Amino acid sequence: MASLTLKGIEKRFGKVIALSRVDLQVEDGEFCVLLGPSGCGKSTLLNVIAGLVPQDEGTVQLNGHSVDRLTPRERDMAMVFQSYALYPHMTVAKNLGFGLRMRGVPKTTIRKQVLDTARLLGIDDLLDRKPRELSGGQRQRVAMGRALVRRPEIFLLDEPLSNLDARLRANLRLELKQLHRQMGTTVVYVTHDQVEAMTLGDKVVVMRDGEVRQTGTPETIYSLPADTFVATFIGSPEINLYQGRLLHKGNRLTFQGKGFSIDLGDLRIDLTEGEVEAGIRPEDIRIRGTAERPLHATVEMISDVGSEKYIHAHLGNENMTIRAPKDASFRPGQIIDFNIDVNRVHIFQKGIRVGL
Ligand code: ATP
Repeated sequence: MASLTLKGIEKRFGKVIALSRVDLQVEDGEFCVLLGPSGCGKSTLLNVIAGLVPQDEGTVQLNGHSVDRLTPRERDMAMVFQSYALYPHMTVAKNLGFGLRMRGVPKTTIRKQVLDTARLLGIDDLLDRKPRELSGGQRQRVAMGRALVRRPEIFLLDEPLSNLDARLRANLRLELKQLHRQMGTTVVYVTHDQVEAMTLGDKVVVMRDGEVRQTGTPETIYSLPADTFVATFIGSPEINLYQGRLLHKGNRLTFQGKGFSIDLGDLRIDLTEGEVEAGIRPEDIRIRGTAERPLHATVEMISDVGSEKYIHAHLGNENMTIRAPKDASFRPGQIIDFNIDVNRVHIFQKGIRVGL
């Protein structure tokens, strides 16, 4: 087990800045997820940690000691890639034991560790099969087993579930979480899937254009997004985000949007007035609230996802999505009254969160 520290990591490929001033602390036993859209630098960062790509600036530390001069092998980190890269001619048992054999581990130890790992992953009945005789999910378990079998200091996973169908992904995600709980190994996991990041991570690192935009628990990232990018990237359906002005009337704040205004009451915020963006999550809109002055929206369309309904509506000149219970019944053209919990309104100025 190990802690990982990254300080001031920079990486350029020609003119492309793949990583810029990346600082990160991953605690011993923590499950840390690197999350961001395609091309944001997640894989490059994982490769820098593993020692497969040298950084231009900055340092990678394991348990407080620099590993910058160590080869990938010497770093004792195990990596699992999106492509399982199993040896097709070897059985599952041979695939699992390959890394240990290469390291000259005695045969009896290999046999024991392979069996222990296979049991942990529920593939002990597949040890004699070849990869072509396995399903996608089974192959992915073998790929993970191959990394797990040698009990690495740190486990690095690059989109390991992305080749699998949605159902299998969800199952393996749960298994991975349980596995982590049992083993307590430090994990750095790359994904562009926010649900995966939020369900797996103790810590989520949201990246964009080579920069870390926010690091925090899933709860923090969701309820206190640091900027409009994080706010819109996390959450489904997406947060409602409106351009407007903050106006101060007496001791009350109002957000004046395009064709509507929201009374923010005495919302604690450092700004008094000016151009801002207001973010409201679809679940923070309460239909037919009991407050004195409800807001009004016109229903345009309803998406029924079974467990709940998403109401797409017009608020002034803007669009709005509301999350409603599954038994809510509305029809297009209907005017609905709603209220917003002002403490859950996110205010951003020039894209950066202000206030609480
Ligand atoms: P994805 O989710 O699509 O895998 P990513 O977030 O992992 O994306 P990276 O693969 O780390 O992103 O790439 C970050 C940036 O660096 C991209 O602009 C990419 O084109 C560039 N890049 C990565 N590797 C190289 C390379 N070997 N040579 C040149 N450019 C590269």
